[in-house]
Amino acid sequence: MDRPAPPPYSGYPPGPPGPPPVQVTHVVPGAVIIQHQIVGPDSTLITCRSCHQSVITRIDRRPSTRTHVIALLLCLFGFWPCVCLPYCMDSCLNTDHYCTNCGAFIGTYIG
Ligand SMILES: [Zn+2]
Repeated sequence: MDRPAPPPYSGYPPGPPGPPPVQVTHVVPGAVIIQHQIVGPDSTLITCRSCHQSVITRIDRRPSTRTHVIALLLCLFGFWPCVCLPYCMDSCLNTDHYCTNCGAFIGTYIG
């Protein structure tokens, strides 16, 4: 006839606590974290972090945003014949340092 009703379902019993949440370091996509060494405007004796050799850096000077801004300002103020000067002056260029042994990038000197 009437069977006894099953006890009301009270849900899952609390299980064992799960593993603690993993600490996630959020990195912005596309961001590159580079540890630079402090370098000067000229070739420098450093210990390369890549090949761990003591080397004299190879330097490569290149214009930066600041170089272009100076050239633009020269143009705007009527000094357009001098517009190439910032590109010829080392003090207006950034200096990239590279390892002469393995070619690794060492750092940039912002002139
Ligand atoms: Zn190296």
